[in-house]
Amino acid sequence: MNNPPGQLIVLSGPSGVGKTTLAHHLIDKFKSTVFSVSTTTRPLRGSEIEGVDYFFVRREEFLEMIEKGYFLEHAEVHGHLYGTSRDWVSKELTRGASVVLDIDVQGALQIKEAFPSSILIFILTPSPDVLSSRLSSRNTDDSDVVKFRLEMAAWEISWIGSFDYYICNNRLEDSLLQVESIFRGTRLKMVNTSFPLEIIAFTPERFTGLEHWHGKRVIVTSGSTREPMDRIRFISNRSSGLMGSSMAMAFRDAGSDVLFVTGPACISGPPGVNTIPVETAKEMFDILVSEAPKADLLVMAAAVSDFKPSAFYDGKTERSGTVRLELEATPDILKELERTIECMCPVMAFSLEFGPDGEKRALGKMKRKGASAIFYNPGDMEGAGMETSSNQGILFFDDGSHVEVKRSSKRYIAELLTAAMGRYLMKGNEG
Ligand code: 5GP
Repeated sequence: MNNPPGQLIVLSGPSGVGKTTLAHHLIDKFKSTVFSVSTTTRPLRGSEIEGVDYFFVRREEFLEMIEKGYFLEHAEVHGHLYGTSRDWVSKELTRGASVVLDIDVQGALQIKEAFPSSILIFILTPSPDVLSSRLSSRNTDDSDVVKFRLEMAAWEISWIGSFDYYICNNRLEDSLLQVESIFRGTRLKMVNTSFPLEIIAFTPERFTGLEHWHGKRVIVTSGSTREPMDRIRFISNRSSGLMGSSMAMAFRDAGSDVLFVTGPACISGPPGVNTIPVETAKEMFDILVSEAPKADLLVMAAAVSDFKPSAFYDGKTERSGTVRLELEATPDILKELERTIECMCPVMAFSLEFGPDGEKRALGKMKRKGASAIFYNPGDMEGAGMETSSNQGILFFDDGSHVEVKRSSKRYIAELLTAAMGRYLMKGNEG
């Protein structure tokens, strides 16, 4: 298997709370972590070293770098620009290192949007007085700057609810232990990590087939699509994109080259996969027309919106009286692909169904769409379908066989489905 990609750990909070000390503690303690050296337009302070503390550039250079898309995130903090290198972070994550960022709150929020699985930790002092005396004792800034930084702190603290963890940096020894525990914990989280090899060893028959995916090219679609009625409103559905991103992670960890085509529910995609964000069913279809012929498998986990407004208004529909909205069906992506592409790759479809005939409908869909397999998840069962982190159901194959999947996390199920699909295709190749 490939090296599982690393984690993004973001330490944030007001200036002077001790973020840098905690960040460097993680780097010293864990071999697999690296520190992201930011670029800034702030002048170099006394003992700072170029390339170690920051890369110092002129404002015009920074603005040019923004233009060229150099930054994964950037923000203006206390009158200076700061930014994190996109390429460097993505290279480190792909080789399996965890990247520790010491950045401000605006940057942390941008990172969370781009990498939903990143871990945001907010660091705070026990009181404003402690913060004030820490800032004054740093002796790096004059008293006006200290006053301004304290005012900024109140604004930054107002964002604390968007963070995953919070550390009150009172006694340093305690805070060091806390940040270590958070890091250790994230490495054991099912949703982020590659699947534990120990479990594969215990239940080998359920996981044989993963090896089939090494070096294969797999497309995974995910999330809902949005079908606009005007410039700000759209028709969509409740899909979170979690099943799709879990599938992408499972194929990635099995060694596949994964292309993740995702609707706006999950815009960034997991680290280590190539992500193409799309908005509408039509955009998703257009990408698949050009990509599917080159793939070894298309995993259609996306919950494409089945309907779209018949007309688009290029503005904002006024709120008055009654607005009639006429809907029409969006293209059935798989059926259209079958028609359009001469040499279509095998397809694994997903089917969320309600009611007693759900299973029959799912089997009918598999046939109609020309899929090799379909994962039927009964939407009326507890803990299955959309807006939940678990799932359950039956994976049907077009040779009449099936695999039952008990209720468990989407990440675990993704691993089982990936293995089962691999076994099925390996069997086909032998026969
Ligand atoms: P200082 O100038 O005191 O080193 O940092 C000022 C603030 O900028 C701190 O809150 C620090 O965490 C933040 N910062 C440093 N590098 C970056 C970066 O790359 N991006 C963002 N958004 N903030 C940063």
